[in-house]
Formats: sequence, C-alpha cells, structure tokens
Amino acid sequence: MSERIDAEELLTSGQLTQEWLRESGIATVKPVDLFVSLYEQTRDYIAQGVNIDDAQFTVAELNALLKGKKEGEDSADVARKYVVDNLKKYQELVAEHRESLDAYLRKHKQSQRVVISSTESQGRHKKHYFLKLEPLDGDDGETQTVPKIDPRYVQYRVKQLPRPWLLARPFMALTLVGWRRTVFLAGIFVLVLALGGPIVHALVIRKLLLLHLYIIIVSAGVFYVVRPIYDVIERSILIAPDWMSGFTVPSAQLELREVGTFESGRAIRQIRLAVYEGECPICGGSINVEDGKGEFKGRLIGECSRARAEHIYSFDHISKVGVPLRKNGYYQPKV
Ligand SMILES: [Zn+2]
Repeated sequence: MSERIDAEELLTSGQLTQEWLRESGIATVKPVDLFVSLYEQTRDYIAQGVNIDDAQFTVAELNALLKGKKEGEDSADVARKYVVDNLKKYQELVAEHRESLDAYLRKHKQSQRVVISSTESQGRHKKHYFLKLEPLDGDDGETQTVPKIDPRYVQYRVKQLPRPWLLARPFMALTLVGWRRTVFLAGIFVLVLALGGPIVHALVIRKLLLLHLYIIIVSAGVFYVVRPIYDVIERSILIAPDWMSGFTVPSAQLELREVGTFESGRAIRQIRLAVYEGECPICGGSINVEDGKGEFKGRLIGECSRARAEHIYSFDHISKVGVPLRKNGYYQPKV
C-alpha cells in the first residue's frame, strides 16, 4: 500500500464514524456491518501491534466476518458478490448522509473521514480491502485538500503501536500524577542509594561481601528496567529499549502522552510504544526516528534509510512535521 495512513488518526476518525452511525440511526442497516467489521478488525490488529499497512482483508475473510461463518464455507463467487453488494450500498448510504457525517467529524476536530478502499487484484495476488483516510468536503461541497505542508518537510505518521512485552505492560497502565509521581521518583532515589550504598560500604570496610554483590546486581537490574520510564517522564519521548517491544520492533519510540484530563483540569498522562515513520522529501525513502548523534545529541531525529548521514530531519511527535537539519539545505531535483 503506497498511501501512508496514520494509525492514530484512523482510529479516532473511525471511532467517531461508528458513533455517528449509531446516533443517526443508520447503524441498524446491514451494509453498515461491513464498515463496523472492517473497523473493529483493523482496531484489533493495531492493538495487537500490527503495522497499519498490513491491516488488509480478503473478500473471504470479510464475508466470514460478516456472516459469522468459517472462512471458505461460501464459494468465492458468493463471498465476492456479498461483499461487493454491501460495499456499494454502504457507499451510497454514506454519500447520501455525507454532510451530516462531515459535520459530525468536523465538530470533533477531524479533517479526514475513513473510507473503505481496495487493492487491485493482480494475477495471483488477491484483492484486499482496507480502511483509509480522505479529506472532508469543504463548505462549498468541493473536496478540500488536507493543508499540505511545505514539500521540503517531512510529514510523520504513527504506523504501528507495538504491544509492549509482558514485563513492560504494567508501566503502560500507569497514570503518573500527584502522589504516585512522588512515590515513583522516590523509588528511583532509593534504587540509586541501593546501587551506591553497598559500593561505598565495601570501600569503607575494604572488603567486597557477597551481600554487596547481590544488592548491586539486583538493584542494577531493577534500575535498568525502570530507567527508561523515568527518562520518558523527563523527556516526553525517547527511543524505547529493545526489551520493551520484545526485541521484535526495531526503533520503536516510548512516549508520554495526554489521554484526558481530571476534573481538576490536570492532564492524565500515560506511556505507550509507537513507531513513527515519514517519507524522505528528497529521495522518497522511508524516514525512521533515531537518537541524534554528534551535533544532534540529546534529541530524536528522522533519518532516511537511504542516506542516514545526509537526509536528516528534525522530529516532533506533536506537530508530526520535520524540517531539514542541515543549515545549507539540500539539493532538490526540479519536478
Ligand atoms: Zn532520502
């Protein structure tokens, strides 16, 4: 799939579309099930850590999902006809109520709607259906283009929300506010003491006891596990240690994000794993987020997989936009 869809935006817009379908009373119509099934399946895939680009489904899978049957129970033709018919009816339904849907999405600060799209079947490759985002219509009914960023800049997207490894999961459920934050930070302090204490004691008595070693090893282990959590609270986003993503996802980011607000108005923050990616404006290669080195030490930067030292960009997970990091700019072929 060449279109780069942001998993996070797709989830939000899809959730709102479902709410709109329910509130408008259209959700009782059968063709809507096609959208709901596709959305729920995509959402589950993302929750399991699957790359959004791989959330695609064959006609047989969709047919089985919709009818609650086993895949392959219906013939290929029956399945195709059923899915195609329902898709056509769903699209007609949405076209008829487009104004209402767009108004609903706009009210919830969305600029794109979720639509069902499909790949072309080529030779032995089966046709696949998937969800994608398209811009809302403008007030004049014309399709608006999503405000395009400067073509020299990178537009980042969340392509995957990796499932944290078992040991990392409790941290993802933490909401760090008030006293919990204090306890957490105090815990770090105690750990540092537990690490340094035995060393100092061993130096004082000029003897390294087995007990010293035990305490040092155990607290070093705990420190290794907790350190990135402490760092992400300080820095908001960093490269996740490999053990957190279970060594399966290279270069995932660990980020602290606002998930809501308390009655007091304070933000509720949670930690999560995400993989950000962009497309290189110079060569079209994919841009991965890495730790900056040398002059960019201490910040995350976007590196092109084709020219990791030259095609480099800033990385901002809030604006999702990156600007070239070299002051002298880059050679841009004329298009
Ligand atoms: Zn490049």
